[in-house]
Amino acid sequence: MKPIAPAQIDWRDSDTPMAPEFDDVYFSTDDGADETRYVFMQHNDLPNRFVEHKRATLVVAETGFGTGLNLCVLWQAFREFRHSHPNAPLKRLHFVTLEKHPVTPTDLAKAHRFWPQYGELTSQIQTAYPMPIEGCHRMEMDDGEVIVDLWLGDVQTTLPQIHATEQGLVDIWFLDGFTPSRNPDMWQGDLYAQMARLSRANATYATFTAAGHVRRGLEEAGFSVNKDVGYGVKREMIYGRFLTPREASSSELDGDVAIIGAGIAGAQLALSLCQRGIKVSLFSEDIAPADGASGNRQGAIYPLMNLAEDGLSQFYQQSYLLSRARINRLAKHHPFDFDWCGVLQLSQNAKDADKLARIANSPFPTELVHQVTKEQASHIADLPLNRGGLYFPYGGWVSPKQTVASLLAQAQDTGNLSCHYQYQLTQLEQLDSGHWQLHLSFNDIEGVSEHAVAEGIEPEFANVVICQGHRSSQLPQTAPLPLSPVRGQVSIPKATTTTAKLKTVLCADGYLVPALKGRLVSGASFVKGSVDVQWREQDREEIQGRMQNSFGGCLDANNDAWIDELDWDETGRAAIRGAVRDHFPLVGPIPDWSQIEASPDSYRKQPLPTQQGLYLIAGLGSRGLCSAPLLAEITASMMNDEPLPVSEFQLKRLLPGRFWQRRLDKGKSPTE
Ligand code: SAM
Repeated sequence: MKPIAPAQIDWRDSDTPMAPEFDDVYFSTDDGADETRYVFMQHNDLPNRFVEHKRATLVVAETGFGTGLNLCVLWQAFREFRHSHPNAPLKRLHFVTLEKHPVTPTDLAKAHRFWPQYGELTSQIQTAYPMPIEGCHRMEMDDGEVIVDLWLGDVQTTLPQIHATEQGLVDIWFLDGFTPSRNPDMWQGDLYAQMARLSRANATYATFTAAGHVRRGLEEAGFSVNKDVGYGVKREMIYGRFLTPREASSSELDGDVAIIGAGIAGAQLALSLCQRGIKVSLFSEDIAPADGASGNRQGAIYPLMNLAEDGLSQFYQQSYLLSRARINRLAKHHPFDFDWCGVLQLSQNAKDADKLARIANSPFPTELVHQVTKEQASHIADLPLNRGGLYFPYGGWVSPKQTVASLLAQAQDTGNLSCHYQYQLTQLEQLDSGHWQLHLSFNDIEGVSEHAVAEGIEPEFANVVICQGHRSSQLPQTAPLPLSPVRGQVSIPKATTTTAKLKTVLCADGYLVPALKGRLVSGASFVKGSVDVQWREQDREEIQGRMQNSFGGCLDANNDAWIDELDWDETGRAAIRGAVRDHFPLVGPIPDWSQIEASPDSYRKQPLPTQQGLYLIAGLGSRGLCSAPLLAEITASMMNDEPLPVSEFQLKRLLPGRFWQRRLDKGKSPTE
């Protein structure tokens, strides 16, 4: 991952923000909004395009997010359109914007003070604004009706990473960015070639400049070029249309969706789909939501960090920020227990200490993670610690069980979700129509029904998403998925006078979460291959041992170890995680395994065929609180033919068929 250098804004000479590096202004404080309306809105035929648009989502892409003025003008116009045309096909705005040097949050807030008329919008932007981390940051505005994907990085590297089908993705381009003569690196041939790759049929663009090489670049890439009078002191500007014939985009998701599983993955997905206006039926074999691995009382949230360039760390950083934003939004509507009290990660041994030090010395934003000394760590924790480590100031803990219930309640508020508990999926049958018939039997957990089998139901759905944790590979359609069960037990010891003081989540060889209603949570055991959910003394000893390894040397003024005070009674809970050996979750369409096996040579270095309408979110391991929102958004965006919140590179790492694909690409049999 490359470090992202924030913008250096100069406010010196006037109130107009200026970029000294490019010797150009971000916007004019006199008439900035007016310029946006003239150049970008009027010359893309907005707001008329809202009314004429046939799909539910309009995708607008922009080069150079700057301070978000273009977004505000567009978003405000979209709100007015939604108010005046509630029954028009267009329901949602998806704004994809690319930024090499994000302005700092302080400069952003300063710039926003110039547009009090957009106060409600700018406060949402400031709340959702990401840390300077390379890659896509999905921001959900207006309860998901407006999505902003802010890609941090140079357009020359980010645009090629945006996934698109052959029908394209973008309806409208706002070509902003500083004046081409002062920013020639951005206005190069590849920019226009990428615009052509990403444009849908009849996509339009507008830009404030009429520079000759920009006109020629656009023409060569297949766009028409029309001139008009420029805004203010600018003599001319250009606008046009993508002329290359292209198949019209396939329609958005057709029909209702069945989600199988009511854990964190299923609940986050239910919200993602329901807030897009999609009808969802959720089935769970359990008696209530979050009865499996998502059912713990408290769980830590912080991103998994590594220094490998495999996209893993970046994926978790992106999803961590989205997860935080969702939790904050959700808690306003359906409150639950959580605390952004920070997370301290302490080393487990010398090798680990070295790894943590290397992470601390890498150019991650300090607000994401930074190194703290033993004294600082002890101060943050409010308990004596014998070493420093990494500190995630925006991390913390949430109650996973309550979060899942709140997510489902929020999804239900849209009127699009129905939940069906105690229904076990026994068989999935694809009908001639392509739809999936679910064979569900009543799971008579409490033995109250004498007619359990008779209460089975067989509904049909165009789309089914399997979110069953470690049980996701139990059907013939999912059997080859590389998922392994890993049993995890947590202990819930009573807080003592000293340990009740713990102010932050502590992680080392296991973790300790600050007290909630007089008890802490500590975990977790790690038993590969076990699907036993009984509480076990052996696991309790494992956790206690991990806590001794981690904090046994942390002594108070009397040389007593505070960890010894904890009363490790039998209060605890065991559940099974679904793990994948490369630690990336599995998300996306499920491959058509038999078709691949029948002709493996057809799929070497080629995308794998998939089972139409059958999707998966699984393999979240013990990281679902962090990863599930982004996985849900990837899935909902894929199903709905919208921009994805991850790069092409990351997507390849996440797809359920990646292990088969790698073997095929090496010329091997897929199952070798
Ligand atoms: N559209 C913005 C708004 O509504 O506030 C104003 C954009 S400002 C005039 C130009 C922006 O383009 C700056 O924020 C700058 O950092 C960004 N930029 C310049 N070169 C870039 C590049 N190669 N890749 C991505 N962003 C770039």
